[in-house]
Amino acid sequence: MKILVVNAGSSSLKYQLLDMENEEVIAKGNCDRIGIGGHVSAKTGDGRKYEADCDFPTHTEAFEKLVEILTTGDTKVIDSMSEISAVGHRIVQGADIFDHSCIVTDEIIDQIDALAELAPVHNHPHALALRACKKVIPADCPQVVVFDTAFHQTMPPKAYMFGLPYDVYENYHVRKYGFHGTSHRFVSSELAKAMGKDVKDLKIVSCHLGNGSSITAVDGGKSVDTSMGFTPLDGVVMGTRSGAVDPSAITYVEKKLDLSPSEMSEYLNKKSGFLGVSGVGSDNRDVQQAANDGNERAKLVSDMLVYEIQKYIGSYAAAMNGLDAVLFTGGIGENSWEVREGVCTNMDYFGIKIDKELNRSVRGKLIKISTPDSKVEVWIVPTNEELLIARDTLALVNANK
Ligand code: ADP
Repeated sequence: MKILVVNAGSSSLKYQLLDMENEEVIAKGNCDRIGIGGHVSAKTGDGRKYEADCDFPTHTEAFEKLVEILTTGDTKVIDSMSEISAVGHRIVQGADIFDHSCIVTDEIIDQIDALAELAPVHNHPHALALRACKKVIPADCPQVVVFDTAFHQTMPPKAYMFGLPYDVYENYHVRKYGFHGTSHRFVSSELAKAMGKDVKDLKIVSCHLGNGSSITAVDGGKSVDTSMGFTPLDGVVMGTRSGAVDPSAITYVEKKLDLSPSEMSEYLNKKSGFLGVSGVGSDNRDVQQAANDGNERAKLVSDMLVYEIQKYIGSYAAAMNGLDAVLFTGGIGENSWEVREGVCTNMDYFGIKIDKELNRSVRGKLIKISTPDSKVEVWIVPTNEELLIARDTLALVNANK
């Protein structure tokens, strides 16, 4: 069975085609610059590559190109789209409507579109992609949607409510939703497998650290709290996002800099974080390099990130009344030994002790980095959101046969 996984943004359409017999990637790529020109880069599992400028006025033309890439020319991997059993789509915001993945209907596409108010950058493009995809795939090929927020729907109200007047929750759905759920679900279950335990018996703090970062308390396989909130802006300091800030500081800065609400949103989402504090850039590698070269502000923001993660670990150990394992994933979590070492230093009160030499020598693979006498196990667990989307898609299609 072959499953196509799609991650659509406002101007991009990233895809992976997976053979679910062995869960291998047959083809992957990105149809980019939709609405502002068009560009495609594609790669097959056996190493064939293709790159070209195109004309993508809308997501429909990008999907048509994707079909052409998969079925013709140098990058051909299938004879026709009828070889694809289903398409799985990543959806950022499912709010409290969707607590699991589901097979797409026209009504579900409309519901996803209606949630654009809560996730303007993501949900409308997702809906456009779902409608465009329907036009190019065979009528009997099901589409499945997998939500970033769904895993966090198990949070109790005491974790997801804000201390705002109750009517904004009732009228406008203002609450914590949490994001990166697909990743946290995937890595926490991979970790349980690697530890030889049932995820139901584990209390895990999952640290997904990338351009966007979130920390989740996973108790018995369920998310009980997470650091991102109503939007992916909350929590720890990120590449260009501020993370949590006293809301009064926001209204104060807004006034001082004479910013409109949407300019303030741009300021918090695009100009803050590593970039805003260090002045160096948003990429962890650049910030780390600058810190190593003696840049004080780069060092400061690196220290802030480590300190904030440590505080989340402490508070989530309290929330779960215990801690069996901490895991690191995402571009920073999987690759930056500096961040992992920083987070696991001076954490002996929690029983966290890592093998520093081992931690410095490994990256991007599933491995335990805690010492044998560490009370809490510490692991690097590479994430693979596309694979989880493909697995969910396959399971739903099989269940509905
Ligand atoms: P996204 O949230 O966009 O999916 P990623 O998970 O790909 O992002 O993470 C991107 C981050 O990972 C960047 O800050 C990048 O600097 C960092 N990163 C990637 N490779 C390394 C590395 N070898 N060492 C340190 N940081 C790395």
